Amino acid sequence: MALYAPEKIKENFVELQQRIAEACQRVGRDPAEVRLIPVTKEFSPAVVELAYEAGYKQVGENKVQELVDKHESLKQDGAYEDLDFILIGHLQSNKARFMTEHVAEFHALDSLRLAARLDRFMEEAGRVLPVYVQVNTSKEDSKYGVSASEALDFIDECAQFKHLRVVGLMTLAINSKDEDEVRHCFRTLKTLRDQAQLKYPEVTRLSMGMSGDFEIAIEEGATDIRIGQMIFGPRDIPNELAHFWPENTPHSN
Ligand SMILES: *Cc1c(COP(=O)(O)O)cnc(C)c1O
Repeated sequence: MALYAPEKIKENFVELQQRIAEACQRVGRDPAEVRLIPVTKEFSPAVVELAYEAGYKQVGENKVQELVDKHESLKQDGAYEDLDFILIGHLQSNKARFMTEHVAEFHALDSLRLAARLDRFMEEAGRVLPVYVQVNTSKEDSKYGVSASEALDFIDECAQFKHLRVVGLMTLAINSKDEDEVRHCFRTLKTLRDQAQLKYPEVTRLSMGMSGDFEIAIEEGATDIRIGQMIFGPRDIPNELAHFWPENTPHSN
């Protein structure tokens, strides 16, 4: 893991907010509409503390076990009470019970079986979990998510789960250097969100955009961008989900 120095990370947050503002300006959006979720996966809990100190009290993790471990190590002695973890990656049904205590939001709901289990655990815990339905907009086998053609029916089915609240959609764009292909994925998600919102007004959010493609995502309407490598440093294991790093980053110029 090539973690940047704390000073560099601080600068990266500032630079990232500038680029968010510029992308918003290009399409006449208010930067306050875009939430940056720092993605701390594969980095130590100290990295979560750096994000927190920079003012980000919600961080993203893609594996529930790693999330739980970090949560437990940080919350000892009652510290970080206002820190929330967001699970942005696939969850196996048999791990749904970890969600009640440790996860504030879930961005990768992709099966009804999982939804039913999550709903039951949330009911027992007496809470309602905000969820985003993950849509496989690129149609790549390597990616999770319901297909675009199933997404609206899937949201209809989710209405039966009283302890889940579908608030948005999430996607990972195609691994491609062709900007049009990437943009197409984001547009597909926004179109689905617009359709779902007609029936379910609370479906407002679009979780899309990572280190390599967040500016395109913002231009296409992202409300949540999930960014790791650009802030904290390149991961050793290349992101199997998107190979944008390191060609297309502020650090290469
Ligand atoms: C890792 C990850 C990200 C962030 O990717 P970076 O390249 O580090 O910005 C975003 N979303 C998901 C689902 C991820 O697993």
